[in-house]
Amino acid sequence: MVKIGTTLSPVGKKALLCGSGELGKEVAIELQRYGVQVVALDRYENAPAMQVAHKSYVVSMLDGARLRAIIEAEKPDYIIPEIEAIATDTLLELEAEGYHVVPTAKATKLTMNREGIRRLVAEELGLPTSPYRFASTREEFAEAIEAIGMPCVVKPIMSSSGHGQSVVRSAADIDRAWENSQSGGRAGAGRVIVEGFVDFDYEITLLTVRHCGGTSFVEPIGHYQQDGDYRESWQPQPMTPSVREQAEAIARRVTDALGGWGLFGVELFIKGDKVIFSEVSPRPHDTGMVTMISQDLSEFALHVRAILGLPIPNIAFHGPSASRAVVVEGDTDRVVFGNLENVLSEPDTQMRIFGKPEVQGHRRLAVLLARAATVEEAREKTGRAYAKLQIDVLDRGAEK
Ligand code: AMP
Repeated sequence: MVKIGTTLSPVGKKALLCGSGELGKEVAIELQRYGVQVVALDRYENAPAMQVAHKSYVVSMLDGARLRAIIEAEKPDYIIPEIEAIATDTLLELEAEGYHVVPTAKATKLTMNREGIRRLVAEELGLPTSPYRFASTREEFAEAIEAIGMPCVVKPIMSSSGHGQSVVRSAADIDRAWENSQSGGRAGAGRVIVEGFVDFDYEITLLTVRHCGGTSFVEPIGHYQQDGDYRESWQPQPMTPSVREQAEAIARRVTDALGGWGLFGVELFIKGDKVIFSEVSPRPHDTGMVTMISQDLSEFALHVRAILGLPIPNIAFHGPSASRAVVVEGDTDRVVFGNLENVLSEPDTQMRIFGKPEVQGHRRLAVLLARAATVEEAREKTGRAYAKLQIDVLDRGAEK
C-alpha cells in the first residue's frame, strides 16, 4: 500500500534533490503536490529548485563526505539526482545501507560519465552506437582520432550542455578540440570520448517511464541542438512505425539494465530506418520541457508518480507542441524580460522563468512553450514569442 503522511511531520515523506536547476524545480513542485517535503541541494545559493523547496543546502555534491553528512542528518525517503556530477560511490554505499536512490545508484553511477553508459550499451547490451574510443592524453587522443576517422565528435566524458564538445572535420581542428575538451569538462581536464560523427536525419529524446505497472513511453520528442546545447524541442516527432518500434525496444533494454522506478530521457539518432543510441539520463531531460504543455502529466509529474510508486495508467497527449529555450549571454546578475504581454498574447502559449540568479557566459534562463494544430505551427508560435521577447542584460549592481 502506498502511503503519504502529513507534510513536515514524522509520518510525512521527504525527498532530497541533488541538483536544483530548472528541471529540479519542476520535480520539487510535483513532489509538493503530493505533500512530500523537499530538501534541495546545489553548489550555489538561490538555485531554481531551492526557491520552491522547504529547505536547502549549498554544497558540492561531488564531496562524498558532505553529501553523506547531509543525508544522514536529513534521512530522506528518496534521494533524487537531478544532475550527473554527484559522488555516485557515496550513493552506492547509501543504497546498500537502505536508502532509496532514484532510479538506482547503479544508474547514477553508470550515467555519471559517458564511458560507463557507453560501455554498458555498446559492449554489454550490444546495441548500436556511433563508433568510439576513449583518450586520457594528447597522444591517446591522436590515436583515437586516427582510429575513428574524421569527421568525429569530441566530448569530455564528464560534461553536459555541449561544454567542451567539438567536431573535428580536418587535421586543423585537432588541437583546438583537445584544448576545448580540457577546459570545458565539468571536472576540469581529463578523459574524453571520440565518437564517429553520425550524419543523422533527425534526433529524438524518447522519454521512458519505469513504474509499478511496467514501462510506458511518451510521444517521441524531436529537438534541435546548437553547440551541443538544446535550443528547440517538439512533440510528436513523426517516425515510421518500424523506427518507432526499434527506438522503444532500445529504450526498454537500456532502462531495464539501469533499473528502478522513474523517468529516463533516452537520446537516439535516426538515420534512414536505423536507430542509434546516443545517451540516456535517468531523470527528466531538458528537451522534455515541452511536456509541460503537451501532456496532462509532464515528464516531471511522471517522474514523481513513478518514484512514489503510484500507477501511470495513461498519459494523455494534448497535441502537437514545441519548446524554445531562452539562452542569455553576458556577465550579469540582473536580467529583465520585457514585452511579456505580447510574448504570451497567442492562445496556448506559456513561459517558465527559472529564477537563476546570474549569468556568466551563456545560460538558459527560461523556456517558451506552445501548442498548435501541427508541430510546424507550434514551432512557429514559439518562434514568434521568442522574437517578441525583450531581454535586457543590465550591469551588475544596476538599479531598478
Ligand atoms: P550529447 O551531449 O552527447 O547529448 O551531445 C549533444 C548534441 O551533439 C547531440 O544532441 C547531437 O546533436 C550532437 N552530437 C553528439 N554526438 C554526436 C555524434 N556522434 N554525431 C553527430 N552529432 C552528435
